[in-house]
Amino acid sequence: SRKDLQQSTPNLVKKESISLFDQPYDLEPKPTASTQIKEQQVKVTLGGWGPTLRKEVKRNFVLSSEESKKHRKNLKIAIPKVLNIYSLAPFLRTYLEALDIDPLHIQFSGFSNEDMFLEGAKYGSVDSCYPAKVAQSHVYSLMYDKKFAKKHFDHMWFPAVTELPGYVKHTMGQTSCPIISGTPKVVYSAFTKEKNLFEEKGIDYVEDALNFDNRDLLKKQLFHTWGNKLRITEDENNWAVEQAWKALDQNDEDIMKEGRAILDEAIANDEIVILLLGRPYHSDPGMNHEVLDEFQSLGFKTISMRAIPKDETYLMKYFKEDVDSHYIESPYDIRDVWAENFSTNSAQKVWAAKFAARHPNLAVLDLSSFKCGHDAPTYAIIDKIIGASRTPHLTLHDIDANKPGGSIKIRVKTFAYTLEQYQKRLTNKQIDEQKISYKEEKEEITV
Ligand code: SF4
Repeated sequence: SRKDLQQSTPNLVKKESISLFDQPYDLEPKPTASTQIKEQQVKVTLGGWGPTLRKEVKRNFVLSSEESKKHRKNLKIAIPKVLNIYSLAPFLRTYLEALDIDPLHIQFSGFSNEDMFLEGAKYGSVDSCYPAKVAQSHVYSLMYDKKFAKKHFDHMWFPAVTELPGYVKHTMGQTSCPIISGTPKVVYSAFTKEKNLFEEKGIDYVEDALNFDNRDLLKKQLFHTWGNKLRITEDENNWAVEQAWKALDQNDEDIMKEGRAILDEAIANDEIVILLLGRPYHSDPGMNHEVLDEFQSLGFKTISMRAIPKDETYLMKYFKEDVDSHYIESPYDIRDVWAENFSTNSAQKVWAAKFAARHPNLAVLDLSSFKCGHDAPTYAIIDKIIGASRTPHLTLHDIDANKPGGSIKIRVKTFAYTLEQYQKRLTNKQIDEQKISYKEEKEEITV
């Protein structure tokens, strides 16, 4: 039955949407006042005209007072579960936990849904894409929803993430979508336009910019933002940042391990796996309109882009020919198909499309939200890549427009039929012929 299939078929996208916010990370033992740390001392000579002298020195770790620690223990911090928070949640959560914030005092909002959207959207002043509009509703929900009413948050942390960490290499940049980096400010304006609702609720709204592509700068930014609010020392801040990176890496490793198992199993058993090509927040069931659940209930396993194994040895199985023939420099290179690859999440979508094109057991679900200006330049590129390899794909662009529920179900069923036919050919090993046709058409997708 539908229910049995839902229980027995892995849906890594759904699993990821939960584990990103819940999975605990075991912090390493905290440094003490006698822990020695290394530091570079820099001395400028001759008023800046002479050589800069650098010396490595050792000194004791500086701890904040017990009183400051007590202050932190009582703080409650809310974080809206939106946009790039889906890329960074394990980092943000662990950073706070490493600074003694009680894990129970760190509250993410719920998944998006229609009611939540309508409730919060009335404050909206800008006609942006759907995910950005929903972000405002998440903040509203953390402030006014009954289930958070007794929480009395001290801070609402909605960082303006300007750059993101990423695995696609040789790119022009690692930027966030500008709508994403601007949304925290837009939300602030919406809730302070007539009267300051944050002030009224006693909430300190924290929306300082963060650059996740420059680790040293990120440490400084976080200390600048939280140093006084949390009463921490710079050493404590830096240690918390290191723990947070480890938590984010561990989270990715765990997801990729599961992704690898599903892909290996698919090869062994001639199965089709559906890869979601989307933005990180498309794992929110309210953002993907539960389309993955539909596939799951038809017995198709689904994985996210995050779950694709990223180790070089594994990827070289699929990209070796291209690397050897100097189309690309490494398996993480997308310059053969897209030169203007400065936007991290867009570049990752294109990279994942290239991977899917080379993996015989992958079918693609290409998802894009209503009025997404940043996905638009990738539409044609992705279409050409998976068109050339004849990878089965279902394209759902502008997914939030016009009550999509019913039409999605119909399109999923039609696509499922295509996948069944493809699976039969996979079992009969006819896919090799397709690989040949992919090679012939390769010139077509080289830009
Ligand atoms: S990536 Fe697209 S949908 Fe997402 S916030 Fe940016 S413009 Fe909006």
